[in-house]
Order: sequence, then C-alpha cells, then structure tokens
Amino acid sequence: MQITEIYKSIQGESTYAGLPCVFVRLTGCNLRCSWCDSEYTFTGGHRRTLEEVIEEVEQLSPGGGLVEITGGEPMLQEREVVPLMQRLLDAGYTVLLETSGERQLERVPRRVIKIVDVKCPNSGEPDTFHMENLDWLNPEDEVKFVLSDRTDYEFARDFVSRHRLDQRVNAALFSPAFSKQASGARDASACLLDPRELAEWMLADGAPARLSLQIHKFVWDPAMKGV
Ligand code: SF4
Repeated sequence: MQITEIYKSIQGESTYAGLPCVFVRLTGCNLRCSWCDSEYTFTGGHRRTLEEVIEEVEQLSPGGGLVEITGGEPMLQEREVVPLMQRLLDAGYTVLLETSGERQLERVPRRVIKIVDVKCPNSGEPDTFHMENLDWLNPEDEVKFVLSDRTDYEFARDFVSRHRLDQRVNAALFSPAFSKQASGARDASACLLDPRELAEWMLADGAPARLSLQIHKFVWDPAMKGV
C-alpha cells in the first residue's frame, strides 16, 4: 500500500484524544476540502507491504495499544487496508479508522472504531457523505463535523437530529476548522470558527454533540507534520 508516514504521537480529535497512538497515514485523497491540513498526503509516499507496516507499528507500540489508520483517504486503498486493520485487531491493537465518509464503509471489520466525517456546506466538498454509511455505523463509532461558520454549525446540528446520531454512535464531534496557514501560535486564534462561539451555540441549542478541539494544534505548532 502507498504510505505517507507512520509515527507515534498523541491522538488529537475524538473521544480518544490525549492517548498515545501510532498513526498510519496513507497517501492519496479524492476530495479537496478547503481547510485540509493534510495536502502533503495527496501525492508521493512509499510502497510498503502489509508485513512492513505491521512491523513498524509493532516497533513503535510493542504488544498493543492504539493505532489510527488515516490519510488522505485510507479507504481508497480498501483492498490492502482492510486486511491491515484485521491483522492489527488480531494482534491485540485498538484500531481507529479516520475517513472522509465519501467511501463505502461496509467492509470495514466490525471491531474497528470508525471516525467518520460528514463534510459541511463550506468545506468545499458538501454532499459527499455516502448516506448508506449510516447503516454501517456501530455504537462505538464517532461522526465528525469540521465547522467553519454558522451555516456549517446549523447543518451539523440538523444532521445529528435528523439521523438521531446521538442515539446511534458514541459521539457526534463538532470541531472548529483551523486555517491552513496557521503557524506559530498554539492557541485558538487560527480557528476559522471561535470555539467559544461554537460552545455558546451548542449550549443555547442543547445540541447533542461534543465540542472537539484538535489538541495536537495546541500542543505543537499547528503547521507541524508528523504529530
Ligand atoms: S478528506 Fe481529509 S485528506 Fe482529503 S481533502 Fe478532505 S481533509 Fe484533506
């Protein structure tokens, strides 16, 4: 499979945020979100066999722990990534899959915890969510909305209620988008939507969702890769 990087860091944006995690970042994405912070994954990377990837994960986190399969869009390499996830599960790892929601998720192994995006109106990729994926969500999964303004927020709030996501999955995550140019300041100044404003909207509406900040951007320089 084509891999951009494999590294260990702190999980940044889900209910697993803050835990040590090995990231397997696959190359390539078929979407072009306006606030994407992973454009360096669109091309390049290195060919790695399944065995090579497993070996590297085991070196970084021997005997188990948390592994996140991410990208780019990892499900573009479904034929190889599904057996990889199964092997990691069999080896005792807790496996997270971070995906754009545009690919069909039917063949993802049941024990993988899916963190599935639903792209909002101002993402540059609206209406790309594969609606049948709602049927493949498990109670352990999470659905993430990256928000850049009030229109995105209202879309997310209404999507969560219409599809009763709060009753279907572990969490609906509302995450303020970061500016692509963010660098230097490790604070909320580069958020496209002020987290405080988002929190106040959520409280006013009683939104059944969890405010989620990309904590790695508060720990390291927001422009830093491999964290
Ligand atoms: S789906 Fe993810 S990797 Fe692809 S463009 Fe959007 S944010 Fe970037």
